[in-house]
Amino acid sequence: MGLLALGTALDWPDAKKQARLVREWGIKQLLEIWNKAKGKERDAMLWGDEVEYLVVTYSKDDPKVLLSLRQADILDALAQDKSLAQRCSPAPDESGYKSSQPPPVFHPEFGRFMLEATPGKPWGIEFKELLEVESNMKLRRCIAKNHMRPNEYPITLTTFPRIGSPGVFTDPYYPVSGPKLRSQFVPDEIANPHIRFPTLAANIRSRRGRKVQVNVPVFRDENTPWPWKDPTVNYDLHQWPEDDDVRNGAAPDNFIHMDAMAFGMGSCCLQITFQAKNLTEGRQMYDQLSPLGPILLALTAATPVYKGFLADTDVRWNQISKAVDDRTPEELGEKPLEKDRWRIPKSRYASNSTYISEDARLRPEYLDPDLVIDENIKQQLLDGGMDDRLATHFAHLFIRDPIVIFAEDLEELDLSKTDHFENLQSTNWQHMRFKPPPADNSIGWRVEFRPMEIQITDFENAAFSVFMVLITRVILSYRLNFYIPIKKVDENMETAHARDAVLTRRFYFRRNLFPPATRPSRRGSPSGSSTPTSAAASRPPTPFGPVEDEYRLMTINEIINGTAYARANPGNIPACAAAAADDDKDSDEYATDDFPGLIPLVESYLDSVNVDVTTRCRLARYLDLIRKRASGELWTAARWIRNFVASHPEYKRDSAVGEEITHDLVGAVVKIAECEARGEGWKDLVGEIPGLEKFLGKAR
Ligand code: ADP
Ligand code: MG
Ligand code: MG
Ligand code: MG
Ligand code: MG
Ligand code: MG
Repeated sequence: MGLLALGTALDWPDAKKQARLVREWGIKQLLEIWNKAKGKERDAMLWGDEVEYLVVTYSKDDPKVLLSLRQADILDALAQDKSLAQRCSPAPDESGYKSSQPPPVFHPEFGRFMLEATPGKPWGIEFKELLEVESNMKLRRCIAKNHMRPNEYPITLTTFPRIGSPGVFTDPYYPVSGPKLRSQFVPDEIANPHIRFPTLAANIRSRRGRKVQVNVPVFRDENTPWPWKDPTVNYDLHQWPEDDDVRNGAAPDNFIHMDAMAFGMGSCCLQITFQAKNLTEGRQMYDQLSPLGPILLALTAATPVYKGFLADTDVRWNQISKAVDDRTPEELGEKPLEKDRWRIPKSRYASNSTYISEDARLRPEYLDPDLVIDENIKQQLLDGGMDDRLATHFAHLFIRDPIVIFAEDLEELDLSKTDHFENLQSTNWQHMRFKPPPADNSIGWRVEFRPMEIQITDFENAAFSVFMVLITRVILSYRLNFYIPIKKVDENMETAHARDAVLTRRFYFRRNLFPPATRPSRRGSPSGSSTPTSAAASRPPTPFGPVEDEYRLMTINEIINGTAYARANPGNIPACAAAAADDDKDSDEYATDDFPGLIPLVESYLDSVNVDVTTRCRLARYLDLIRKRASGELWTAARWIRNFVASHPEYKRDSAVGEEITHDLVGAVVKIAECEARGEGWKDLVGEIPGLEKFLGKAR
């Protein structure tokens, strides 16, 4: 979340009238910062993570577990505490290394039951700092907990299993439904009360002309009635015009039906922001990390339950996408274009739709020929000195309307700010975000990696953060090439939603990450003499073959661990068997086309730089977790939660996740976190909590 401006937020009809002005001023502000910052060089290689929490009230003996809506009070308590870390330090995982981190920073989020925490300042380039991430995350959780009531807990489930279920699920209780969300499942009070958030939700609904429609396929279990009709939908409400939505078919059979922004934006994720040394490197990072998005989404899958039912998908992404989809019927292609300017194929929350680097390795075939852009805006950017490719990116983001506009900001254009630019930028929720320097140009060009699901433990959250940092360094050091057509990244994003996609699906991935002749030998390190000079690497590999030959379908095991490892460890991976049974061409490729694997690449990178043994061993724990999640040796959180539900005595194999199951699931999650905070690992909980060893491993 950026800074929350105060002021008079315009309702949709008034906001719509100002949309053009806000875009125009946003572009002027963008050009101002572009001209100031485009030549910035040698910014430090910094990075930072964001961890989001749900706040729940839980006690062992109270069967009710609820979302606590005390975000504002908790943030106040945190802000007033001058000695934040007192009762939490030294952090349990301390290794003797002296941290230079100031106290962590806590931020509000969309849900009034959410918190976000970041490190007090971004992490630097030192390997030692990678080892600090986990203890810093634990410190954040500890501090957050210490500013809550005894029965409140910050937990890192992506979604609250029973948000929107009939009955009471918030503390305090508020009845449905309110004028902003008009949801039949959640009260307006579910959203952060700051005017920005209810206005965002209300204006998305108004622009769209009906409520958002978040339908998730239900998981069909043995006793699930089929066709399944969401039993929580009320067809007889007549309070708002939008109550007609369900009578008009908004809630189809076999889908869990949700109708408000909170069902999406109330989900927690793990985001990583990297600062590049300059604009060119930032654009390269953006492009190269982009194809990794769906892979990391599937690998971090943690969202199998919605509104009290098991879903047939494992990740949150599409639900958030639908929860903020403000497209009109014309833009959706349901009606002929009359008032609106374009058909728009994706929600404003979606995988990104274009590449932005001027890298010679970016073949035109990788781009989407049908990308919708505002030609007018593109021309303004070109006239202002921006190059075609980046102008195209922003001209695509700017096809959207600004949703929340404050009247006070329209008095005059202030070029010493970026508020209007950020208005559009920060409501384009793509899986990568290219972040220009702020108006004062005090920091560099940044790239944010946004698809990952939050993990239940800080060990896992640290593991995925550290992995992304290491892979980014490998990409830059070896000038790896991950390009595939951007449309294939979209397809992968869909694929990542499937139940157990990590094991059962294959993803389009580039076969050869190296420029010709610089691929490292299997044993040797890809660094040193074989590192391409930048001149050689920026020459396109010649001759270009057909684009389709550059990528193929791979399992996540192959992508993460490499084909050699995948062949030696196929046991847990149904997709390996499926691939063998696939058509001839594919199975040939499957058998013969070697892929080194991202973890082996990280390891050869670590071999090539000086890392002391202790650091290397501790990094190995993180890589090991990821290796095993990719190979199926360990379960994703999604799989673990499904198993937890299935093995609960109250579960009736009918897809319903009732209050007792939710209570016990949250109880298990709280217990795991408490063990983790004490530095005890989870050994003692194995046997008590079903599936724990399959999920988190033996001990750590
Ligand atoms: P947003 O919510 O807009 O993505 P946040 O302010 O929550 O942004 O910060 C995102 C992350 O970026 C935080 O972890 C923060 O520490 C980190 N960060 C801040 N400054 C920099 C920088 N110059 N380079 C890299 N990361 C940074
Ligand atoms: Mg956030
Ligand atoms: Mg943030
Ligand atoms: Mg944010
Ligand atoms: Mg968010
Ligand atoms: Mg962020």
